Amino acid sequence: MPFKSEAQRRYMYATNPRLAKKFDKHTPKGVKLPERVSQEESAVKKTAGIRKAQRSAFLLEMIKIAQGGVKCPKCGHVNKPGAAKCSNCGYVFERDKQAAACPMATRDLKMNTENRNKAIKADHIKYGPLNLSDDEYWVRLAKHWDTSEDVARESKCSNCVAFDISPRMQECMPGMVQEDGYLGYCHMHKFKCHSERTCYTWAKGGPIIKDAVSLDWEKK
Ligand code: SF4
Ligand SMILES: [Zn+2]
Repeated sequence: MPFKSEAQRRYMYATNPRLAKKFDKHTPKGVKLPERVSQEESAVKKTAGIRKAQRSAFLLEMIKIAQGGVKCPKCGHVNKPGAAKCSNCGYVFERDKQAAACPMATRDLKMNTENRNKAIKADHIKYGPLNLSDDEYWVRLAKHWDTSEDVARESKCSNCVAFDISPRMQECMPGMVQEDGYLGYCHMHKFKCHSERTCYTWAKGGPIIKDAVSLDWEKK
């Protein structure tokens, strides 16, 4: 590293001559150094250093956010992807507060009815049968799935991957037990559906009985 001023050269030769000689080697010969580096110049360099550090911190934050990090609205700390609360200040993120609440359709009868009606009418869903004694529905379903009526009858909301009867969801239901079955929440079509019905988008794997799995679906 070269000397920056004559004052620095004098000071270093007085306190550490060996290092001063090394500095001398890097200092261009014949160049007249200023007596002292002005305070203004050092202040400008200091400010530039701070700006550089701020820019690096900002860039690092952007990278973390781009990688799915969750920025805390309270303290600004960027948390790991999927964090439920801020590891710095403990703030619980809105998304998780919303997920922890009952789904909107279980709180809004109009929305629930609209979603249910859409699921009944949509050709790719056909939620039913409306009347549980409607045998024709199962015949149509078996044809749609290219299977037997008995197999079709075994594929119901009650064992669908999207059917939620977890403890937390039970709290959201007006009364789980109904005549001929029980209610659960359909995460796929977002309405309160009946265990003994089904639809064209049925998928094996349910029901959802754990709160953690229920919350995961709610965040999707
Ligand atoms: S729970 Fe499954 S089978 Fe029942 S309506 Fe929803 S997607 Fe269809
Ligand atoms: Zn925070």
